[in-house]
Amino acid sequence: MIKQETIQQWIEKHPLLKKIIEKEEVLWMNPLIEETEKGVTDLSVHQKDVQEAAERLQRFAPYIAEVFPETKASQGIIESPVTTIPTMKEALQSYYQVDLPGTLLLKEDNALPISGSIKARGGIYEVLKHAETLAIDEGLITKKDNYKRFAEESFQTFFSNYKIAVGSTGNLGLSIGIMSAKLGFKVTVHMSADAKQWKKDMLREKGVTVVEYADDYSKAVDEGRRQAEADPACHFVDDENSLDLFFGYAVAGKRLAIQLKERGTVVDEEHPLFVYLPCGVGGGPGGVAYGLKLAFGDHVHCFFAEPTHSPCMLIGMMTGLHDEVSVHDFGLDNETAADGLAVGTASGFVGKTMEPLLAGCYTISDHTMFSLLKKLVDTEKIYLEPSALAGMTGPVQTIQHNIQGAHSSNATHLVWATGGNMVPREELDAYYKEGER
Ligand SMILES: *Cc1c(COP(=O)(O)O)cnc(C)c1O
Repeated sequence: MIKQETIQQWIEKHPLLKKIIEKEEVLWMNPLIEETEKGVTDLSVHQKDVQEAAERLQRFAPYIAEVFPETKASQGIIESPVTTIPTMKEALQSYYQVDLPGTLLLKEDNALPISGSIKARGGIYEVLKHAETLAIDEGLITKKDNYKRFAEESFQTFFSNYKIAVGSTGNLGLSIGIMSAKLGFKVTVHMSADAKQWKKDMLREKGVTVVEYADDYSKAVDEGRRQAEADPACHFVDDENSLDLFFGYAVAGKRLAIQLKERGTVVDEEHPLFVYLPCGVGGGPGGVAYGLKLAFGDHVHCFFAEPTHSPCMLIGMMTGLHDEVSVHDFGLDNETAADGLAVGTASGFVGKTMEPLLAGCYTISDHTMFSLLKKLVDTEKIYLEPSALAGMTGPVQTIQHNIQGAHSSNATHLVWATGGNMVPREELDAYYKEGER
């Protein structure tokens, strides 16, 4: 029984559940979507919060450029390129026997500086905001000063009195760990059993305390939260509920609008933009989608992509149960090789915020992710981690299901590649071999 109803009754209400339970790849269209202007009005989040986040990242840019030399060229702004992948487009068309008349673009968050994944957006932003708040309260700095000063030793000494903690399957831990350690915080990452050894090793090398749990992701988060709450000097980064993470991700919206304009890609009524975002707990794709809706309104159509074994956001939004339901309730095992996407229960905050804004969700098997991983290497020589391929079947899904505008030659399909550059070469080679197999 799930909320007083049997699985059979839930299937009668939502027939797509049958296929979801059978772990088929499905596309679900969100019936609650509204016109953007109306959809954004009643939310608990606001445009000014995103603007504030963008300004804060701008204030920190001189510091970032100073302490992470790989960001010098972008003046301390942490941003990724948009790349056309025409050979991959051909490969997709012939593999799926589908006609893809629009433009296919890859948003390469795998190449984001500092931590090589989408978590370099929200994760780093939350740490910077916390550092700024502490430093201003202490009278160490004002918003008018040059934030290069955060690199001074006195700041590091000050931050060493404070702690930051996070529960993570990997990439969030990398972002929070690297940024916090650089500022001088004492930082602990609580990691689940499925986290990769190289991620733990890398964090420990940077002076981060890594605590390992035999259980899954939510256990690591709960335990981390419990320990942090008992310590007033500790700030816990809450992957499921954090507004700061969300706003850090949302800054991507306006920046993408500028990038598309620069490369001459038009987005308007006749030129729809379809965006496909891999989804775990939801903060990353949710924040980005919110930023995109603010930037492009009704002309952008955002879809979340989840593994067939872990469609927590799809089930949460479709049933309206959000974080009161887990994929386990419907007999799914939440087992996937897609790091960051093995999440059984989605963020309730994100699911509710997305109700009026999200076009839909679809699922993808691990098998498909690995075979597309190999194809992307063969065609474009771009190495991603498996989860980052989840967006790649989005254009196929929307076109095969005749979603309005998807088949237009004026359409732009943008696949959000969420991670890859921190993954050691041997791991990437093993992923490639798996794709070959
Ligand atoms: C974290 C992550 C996601 C999903 O982000 P959520 O905020 O957990 O939904 C997708 N891809 C990669 C590579 C990630 O690390």
